Amino acid sequence: MKNQIMKQYSFPVILLAIFEIVAVTLWLTKDNLFYLFNFSYIGLSISLGIFLFMKKYKYARRIVQLLVGLYMLIYLGLIRQENMQIEGFWYYLFTGVFEAATIHYAVAKIFGPLIFGRGWCGYACWTAMALDFLPYKTPKEPRKKLEWIRYITFAVSLVFVSTLFLSKVGNIERIMFWTFVVGNIVYYGTGIILAFAFKDNRAFCKYICPITIFIKPMSYFSLIRIKCDKEKCISCGKCKRVCPMNVDVTDNSRKRVNGTECILCMECVKNCPRNAL
Ligand code: SF4
Ligand code: SF4
Ligand code: SF4
Repeated sequence: MKNQIMKQYSFPVILLAIFEIVAVTLWLTKDNLFYLFNFSYIGLSISLGIFLFMKKYKYARRIVQLLVGLYMLIYLGLIRQENMQIEGFWYYLFTGVFEAATIHYAVAKIFGPLIFGRGWCGYACWTAMALDFLPYKTPKEPRKKLEWIRYITFAVSLVFVSTLFLSKVGNIERIMFWTFVVGNIVYYGTGIILAFAFKDNRAFCKYICPITIFIKPMSYFSLIRIKCDKEKCISCGKCKRVCPMNVDVTDNSRKRVNGTECILCMECVKNCPRNAL
């Protein structure tokens, strides 16, 4: 019995241990206690969410989204004034400083997706945290061919920060803070308008978000994936109907339709009548 319980909850414990390794390593190598607090908090929040999910608590994912999303938006972004958006990433990259945004991108959006795919998009992003409250949790209209827009937003962010550097403007840190504030207002506004226009809460994620340029190719190789047990599946199509990202989760190949869009939200798993996922 004891062994069974330990086995059952080993996943959140292992995940917490991974975050603690990152937390302690960064704390000691960068000699900064903030990293211990930051990654311990995020690891605890995610592990708590997985534990609640295992307990079949309906709002487990939403709780993690709020715990991590609000922490990053309010504490890191507004109080500590660290721009964790893509502009902040370019900024720290150009200054050659391996701090805040560069570490965040390396862990959550570039190398982390090799393990947990787009877990960031399902459980931590503060933009999606708000968009997921809107009424269109599953898309009510077919997907549009507008993915090209994300390349434009990606290029605009890069050109914007490059121009600031090349023109040697003063007080760039302050500009970065206001870029974070204004950028978030624009993202939320665009995300809400698109959600209602396309009857799809995640329209912003599908067509506009520049982060997907990093996160989609990496999540193609993700270790953690939803797989379908073909023996159990009765091809009822429910998993596709409830998926917010239009993923064909019944196809186990890495080339499945919209495979790199999966945000690991588990809606398909929860709704499969045959426990095939
Ligand atoms: S696609 Fe962008 S906006 Fe959507 S959840 Fe991922 S990082 Fe957030
Ligand atoms: S919901 Fe389950 S049974 Fe239905 S198609 Fe999807 S995997 Fe198969
Ligand atoms: S419903 Fe399933 S396939 Fe779709 S995003 Fe969520 S976990 Fe991925």
